[in-house]
Amino acid sequence: MILVTGATGQLGRVVIEHLMKQGDAGPVAGLVRDEAKASDLKAKGVDVRVGDYNDVGSLDAAMKGVERVLLISGTEMDAAKSLQQHANIIDAAKRAGVRFIAYTGRAMREPSATETKLMKGHFETEDLIRESGLTYALFRNALYMETIVYFVAKGGYRPGQAATFETDIRLPAGQGKVAYALRSELGEAIANALHQGVGEDHVYTLTAGQAWSFDDVARSLGELSGKPVTYTPIDKATFEAQMLGRGVLEAMARLFSGFYRDILEGQLDEVTPEMERLLGRKPAALEDGLKVLFHL
Ligand code: NAP
Repeated sequence: MILVTGATGQLGRVVIEHLMKQGDAGPVAGLVRDEAKASDLKAKGVDVRVGDYNDVGSLDAAMKGVERVLLISGTEMDAAKSLQQHANIIDAAKRAGVRFIAYTGRAMREPSATETKLMKGHFETEDLIRESGLTYALFRNALYMETIVYFVAKGGYRPGQAATFETDIRLPAGQGKVAYALRSELGEAIANALHQGVGEDHVYTLTAGQAWSFDDVARSLGELSGKPVTYTPIDKATFEAQMLGRGVLEAMARLFSGFYRDILEGQLDEVTPEMERLLGRKPAALEDGLKVLFHL
């Protein structure tokens, strides 16, 4: 049996859906912290297990009879707490005699150079997995294409709202490029890799077939919408002052400017053929994704 954590989350749901489509994938269990959100999973035949990354006892109970675990990184914003949560899952897996663990981290060219603690935490989790002695797969996911909705939103974006975009995009990302991938395609690729089975330790870097700058994002949005859209690189201090001016908390403004710094420094522009191989087709290009995300 495979246990997918974060089963009520967006990536977890896609992975489970594709694992179940494969038919011969065997029983699929999902770890959820709120059972009320999992009725659709139960209806599909997922073995729903309730547990919280912070609650070791609940994780021990959830691992019963599990042979493989896909640990989907949590949403905790405090990097130290987040790492502890991931350690709790890895340790529970070891105690339960799980033989294989997979983890969804991030694609980054030079992890030691990032100043973003949450990004570093992904690689620290990978180290814990390597040290665990379990057979592993590390999925280093590209930045979700869906995040563009947040980057270019007019006056800020909240989940559930219709996506809008500024026609005068100003960000501290220079001409840095990102090999964005759609979350749905990342989930599908991960499910395919898990289905193919991994006999030995493996690191997958899952990216689009190309990387795009914010000039490319602006050009594409302009072509698709018929409106002139421009991108102007700005400096970090100007960006942070703008965020604070809009009432964004200082810690959040710093976090975002750290993400843009990684983009500017070329940390997210690596392109690999692995996602195309796992999907059996080319991953969505920027224009395809923008059409869907902005209903263009
Ligand atoms: P998501 O929709 O927010 O799902 C996160 C899942 O983690 C949810 O199911 C959530 O449970 C679960 N979770 C969080 N804390 C937990 C805890 N303490 N105990 C048990 N479950 C917990 O995020 P996503 O879109 O699926 O993405 C998956 C992960 O990728 C994120 O959590 C984040 O680490 C990372 N991420 C990657 C990118 C990227 O660009 N590659 C961008 C953003 C985030 P609930 O359903 O109960 O909330």
